[in-house]
Parts: sequence; C-alpha cells; structure tokens
Amino acid sequence: MHLEGSCHCGAVRFSCDSPHPVPYQRCYCSICRKTAGSGGYAINIMGRAETLEIEGAENLSTYQAKMEDGVSQAERRFCRLCGSHLWLFDSRWPELIHPQASAIDTELPKPPQKTHIMLGSKPGWIVPDIGPNDKTFDGYPDESIADWHHRTGTAEESEN
Ligand SMILES: [Zn+2]
Ligand SMILES: [Zn+2]
Repeated sequence: MHLEGSCHCGAVRFSCDSPHPVPYQRCYCSICRKTAGSGGYAINIMGRAETLEIEGAENLSTYQAKMEDGVSQAERRFCRLCGSHLWLFDSRWPELIHPQASAIDTELPKPPQKTHIMLGSKPGWIVPDIGPNDKTFDGYPDESIADWHHRTGTAEESEN
C-alpha cells in the first residue's frame, strides 16, 4: 500500500510504501502517550525506509527519548513548526520506518483485531478498548508487525 502523510501545518509531507499498513497496535508507554497520544496511546504502523520520500525535510526535528539508562536509539521525527509527530526510525532496523497512524492522510485499513502493548505503563484513568480477539501485554508484544499481518491475513502480496 502506498502511504501519504503530512504534519498538521503542511510544512512536511512524506510518502512510503508499506506491505503492513494496518493500524492495529496501541502503545500505552509514556513516550507514546506524551509525544503523540493524548487519548492514552499512540499507533505506529510500518513502512519501507528505502521508499521514504520527504518534502520539507528542513522543517523536521528529532527527539530521542530520555530513558533510565541513557537515550533511546529510536529517532522520533516531528515538524518543528507545528509539533506533529510523523514517524520513528531506529538504526537497529534500518530497512523500516514507523509512521504515526495520525500523520497518514491515506485511508488506512480498519484493523480486524487490535494489540495493546505496554499496558503496565498507563495511568488508571485510561480504560483500554479491548475487543474479544485483541491481545494484551504489560510490556512488549510477542509478535512483530509483519507477523501480525501474516497471522490475520492482512499482509499485501507485493511483499518480498
Ligand atoms: Zn508542521
Ligand atoms: Zn510506546
């Protein structure tokens, strides 16, 4: 699937291809909640880094989250003019980028089921909307974004 995305003010536009575009995974960790998830979680999807094209890259800034043991290797890219979080890049997985679902303008597929992760990090007022087939994890999930798409039959055939 070809994905088009942008920040709110329009200074940054980007596009990428994704064989695994379903926005099924909600992360309740403090970084996602504080930077991109006022409602209690953020959703990152997946794209192929080699297909990433950016307009207005001079308006991008990067946040590497402060962790207990230093600074996260994950680079969170956002528009320095309007603050929209756009995607995450981690040099440990250089073939991937992880766009925020909120930054994508293309109509995304509806998830047939969801995965809720880092539930151990959420405050009590956030009541997750857990469906009958959803998976829940206090920490990290037991399957990758690609594996979830294969299990649920939502991966695209063009994938290699
Ligand atoms: Zn902007
Ligand atoms: Zn998170």
